[in-house]
Amino acid sequence: MSIIVQKYGGSSVADAERIKRVSNHVIKLKEQGHQPVVVVSAMGDSTDHLIDLAKSINPSPSSREMDMLLSTGEQISISLIAMAIESKGYKAISLTGYQCGIETDHFYSKAKIHDIKSDRIKAELDKDNIVIVAGFQGVNKDGDITTLGRGGSDTSAVALAVALDASLCEIYTDVTGIYTTDPRIVKTAKQLQTISYDEMLELAKLGAKVMHPRSVELARKNKMKLVVRSSFELDKEGTEIIEVKEMEKAQVRGVTLDDNIVRLSVPNVPDKPGIAYKMFSALAAQNVHIDMIIQNLTHDEHNDISFTVPKDDLDVVRKIITQFVEEVGANPLLVRDDVAKLSIVGTGITSDAHIASGLFGALYKMGINIEMISTSEIKISCIIDKSRAKDALIEIHDFFELHKVI
Ligand code: ADP
Ligand code: ASP
Ligand code: MG
Repeated sequence: MSIIVQKYGGSSVADAERIKRVSNHVIKLKEQGHQPVVVVSAMGDSTDHLIDLAKSINPSPSSREMDMLLSTGEQISISLIAMAIESKGYKAISLTGYQCGIETDHFYSKAKIHDIKSDRIKAELDKDNIVIVAGFQGVNKDGDITTLGRGGSDTSAVALAVALDASLCEIYTDVTGIYTTDPRIVKTAKQLQTISYDEMLELAKLGAKVMHPRSVELARKNKMKLVVRSSFELDKEGTEIIEVKEMEKAQVRGVTLDDNIVRLSVPNVPDKPGIAYKMFSALAAQNVHIDMIIQNLTHDEHNDISFTVPKDDLDVVRKIITQFVEEVGANPLLVRDDVAKLSIVGTGITSDAHIASGLFGALYKMGINIEMISTSEIKISCIIDKSRAKDALIEIHDFFELHKVI
């Protein structure tokens, strides 16, 4: 008898019918002799609606209260799933993040799980209960509710699977698996049978919202077997995320877009030791995720420093940089939100110069200017004009013939 963790995303539990269908699927797992632990997201778009509601009352609500509010979405769905299972004559119990011992750090809205005290869940499984856990939430040292960031239920699922030593973690969503790009934007996107943890992590970090990045990181670190499948087409195989040591040849395996970023520039920063440290350590202290950084020497021993951050961090960054600008005597922060990041991903792709030149050439042919570039062994990202981003995604997918990828 093994523990299997299944996670169902918002669209999979969007209404009563779907909740019943998901519950039947969970019962099947129980019938097969497994111990199901089910992680559930808030129903449909309810997290978005809660955010809109909060902002209609207070345009900049405190992050503590936001987390308190948003965690309620998941509480609705877990109780309904438990009720649906009970209605079929099976034992089920719903638990919040707090009740099942998910301990996090104190960063509201993007908390990281520190530890899971799994005794309660284990005790419930021993009592033959199907355990239904609220995704996306935990509790900090002060006993306050925290959330893990948008899409964070994937991370709850993997973290629980690791803590419970589960044999498998299945992520059920509204597509049949991981594709070469978002199949809702590019019709020729191809489903991958397998993808490496590294490639999946990179795609997730670079905007493919099908998986929360931290969930992939945790699965990789703990070698957790992870499969992404559809809750709508249960007969379809899904995509397994696996460990791949070396690829035979460097190959682009996915392309992704992130338009939830802003490009920031701080002009006229004095060019002396310790300045970059001062700026980026202040941002790091607030857990701001900095992505691309470019420093160009301009004139009279001054630099312009540009970087990108997630849009959600803009208010925090603005405060920090305003203080930095005053202290070091630079020019005020410039913000641009009309940009997007287009990335290609594949193990070892930067070792083949034709891949980078192919990407740049294809963008050039479309008349698209590249404003920033960053590379690692496994990805090449370009900051481009947001208004051209979707066309570029389609074109680059086609250029690298990703519809033929195996
Ligand atoms: P859930 O609510 O189940 O967590 P999400 O909306 O978070 O689902 O993630 C699923 C969505 O991710 C898909 O509907 C798809 O539009 C999008 N997506 C983006 N990139 C990819 C990709 N490479 N492969 C599959 N889906 C992707
Ligand atoms: N409900 C949360 C969100 O919409 C968490 C999740 O779905 O994973 O982001
Ligand atoms: Mg998701």
